[in-house]
Amino acid sequence: MKIVSACLAGVPCRYDGQAKPRLDLIELVQKGEAIALCPEELGDLGTPRPPCENVSGKILTQEGEDKSEAFHRGAQIALAKTLKVGATEAILKSCSPMCGVGKVYDGTFSGTLTTGDGVFTQLLKQHGIKTKERD
Ligand code: SF4
Repeated sequence: MKIVSACLAGVPCRYDGQAKPRLDLIELVQKGEAIALCPEELGDLGTPRPPCENVSGKILTQEGEDKSEAFHRGAQIALAKTLKVGATEAILKSCSPMCGVGKVYDGTFSGTLTTGDGVFTQLLKQHGIKTKERD
């Protein structure tokens, strides 16, 4: 079993209310080989929502509102679901402050990337789940 970022599976759950559908991943979910999760929605952040970035370890909106608690809560709920279905791999939306793998926006809200993982990705790695990014 795999986990897929819900926005890649066609769910319009991104901050701007859009999806990033990828046909092969939609098919994976339809075949029952993957489960689509949106940790930000699981953290009750709502859709649409203000975009957030990791600013020195805190997850903030551009206006400086601290959303760290909701991010961590959503990631924990998503992790619990991941472990419950016995998933061993996650295919995650690139660059997201929640789902990014290996690179995320640098906290300046200027579109600049830096090295790092999203909040959910960090948790998955801590629990030995293989993570892979997808644009
Ligand atoms: Fe939700 Fe992750 Fe997609 Fe963001 S990248 S919309 S948290 S599934």
